[in-house]
Amino acid sequence: MREARVLYEQPAKRKSTLVCFDFDQTILNEHSHNQIKYKQLSNFSECIEADYLGELIKQEPDGVFKNREKLLETFNLFFEQGHNIAITSFTEYKSLIIPVLKFLGLSKEQLSKIHVEAWLPKTQDYMSKFGKNGHIRKAMDHFKVNEYQLVMLIDDSINNIEIAKYNDINTILVPAEYNPAPVYLDEAVKLGGDLVKQATAKDNEPEVLANTSWVARENVRNYNQLSLN
Ligand SMILES: [Mg+2]
Repeated sequence: MREARVLYEQPAKRKSTLVCFDFDQTILNEHSHNQIKYKQLSNFSECIEADYLGELIKQEPDGVFKNREKLLETFNLFFEQGHNIAITSFTEYKSLIIPVLKFLGLSKEQLSKIHVEAWLPKTQDYMSKFGKNGHIRKAMDHFKVNEYQLVMLIDDSINNIEIAKYNDINTILVPAEYNPAPVYLDEAVKLGGDLVKQATAKDNEPEVLANTSWVARENVRNYNQLSLN
C-alpha cells in the first residue's frame, strides 16, 4: 500500500502563466488604430491595413517600436521563462499585429505561439468600466490559465491597469511618451520571474497544459496575408 501511494505523489507540474501585451503605444510608439481610422476617413482604401504596414516598415524601427531593442529582449525572456503570450488590444485592425511583431524581430515559431485578442468593445462605457478584462479573460480561456494571479498585463492605459489590478491581475504601466526610460520592461521581466515561482510552488495541484494548435494556424494565415518578405 505504501509503495502505491508514493506513485501518486509526483511533483506538481508548473501551472500555465500568461503575459498580455497591449499593442498601441505599448509595443508601438504610435496609436495605429487611431492613425488608420483617420486615414480611412480621409482616403478610403480597400487595403488600408496593408498600406499602413507598408508605410510602417519603411520607417526607422527605433522610432516605430517603444524601446525596440529592450522590447525584443523582453519578448525573448518571456518565451525563455515559459509564459504564454497574448496581445490584448482595442483595435479594429487585427491583421496588422503579427506582421508588426515580425518586423520587431520575433521568429516565425515565436509568432505562431502568440494569441491575438484584438477587438473594440461595443461601447465606450464598457471600455471604461471593464478595461481589458474581456480580452484577458478570452486569452486566459485560450491558454487554460485559471488564476488571475498568474496573469500579467503590460499596458499604457491607467484605466486598464487599475481595472486589472482590481481583479488581482499583475500589472506594468507603460509610460505614455516616445521611447521612455525602459525600467518598466526590467520590472516586467522581474515580475515574470515571480509568476514562474508562483506557478511552480510545491503546493500547486498538477495541471494539464493547454493545446495551442488553433492559434498557430490562425497566426500563420495572418502571416501569409500580410507577408513582409
Ligand atoms: Mg495602448
